[in-house]
Amino acid sequence: MTRQKLFVGKKIILFIIRRVKVPAIAKKTFDQFSHLPEFLGIVQFILDKISRVSSPLKRARIVHKSIDEFNEEIFAHPIVQQYSPCKVGCSACCHTQVSVTSDEAELLTQKIVEGVGINLERLELQANVSEETSTFYQLKYDDRACVFLDDSGACTVYEDRPSVCRTNAVLGDAQQCLVSGDSQQLRLVKTSKADMAIYASFLHSKESGSLPFMVFKKLKEKSFSLATQSAKL
Ligand code: SF4
Repeated sequence: MTRQKLFVGKKIILFIIRRVKVPAIAKKTFDQFSHLPEFLGIVQFILDKISRVSSPLKRARIVHKSIDEFNEEIFAHPIVQQYSPCKVGCSACCHTQVSVTSDEAELLTQKIVEGVGINLERLELQANVSEETSTFYQLKYDDRACVFLDDSGACTVYEDRPSVCRTNAVLGDAQQCLVSGDSQQLRLVKTSKADMAIYASFLHSKESGSLPFMVFKKLKEKSFSLATQSAKL
């Protein structure tokens, strides 16, 4: 197994490179800003916090809370308030490929076990397409809908939605979000500090992947009864 060194302040943190796929935007932000102490400090802050916690559910919630705090000021900015069309019921970003850490997958799986209803057939369909983004976007639009999206376009796990979902906000015309695949011209609000926190959480995670793949895998590991869940739908 290879190891990766990360210099944070005076510390050298060693990470075993695992099966981890850092979300593209978080990686881009890290590559752009990791030379700045303020930004690298965020990575250290998150790693310090979650390294001391043994519960995956608590770790995921610690990261989510930090992300919300980093985003609070940005999302409250008058320009975002005036020009962002994002609102409940507008769910184009919930038809895109979302990456989650192992902790986040555990948290989402826990919600299902506790009774949040999902379409298991769709989860399995999405989990079985390749992790490659291009293959995911070959699915029909309706088949790409996140299994936690309800009929009114709201998220059924909003309080515990993944980090990536917490940074999704666009400026301009919502219609543009409906253009699918690589030609999508997203005008995402920049959430650089939250991206650094996301980067740290993925670095810490022993595994990561697309939401459907990771959640389906966790359900299988828990031998979750598909028949039980289907009966609730
Ligand atoms: S978890 Fe919620 S916010 Fe995230 S993609 Fe699914 S429905 Fe949308």
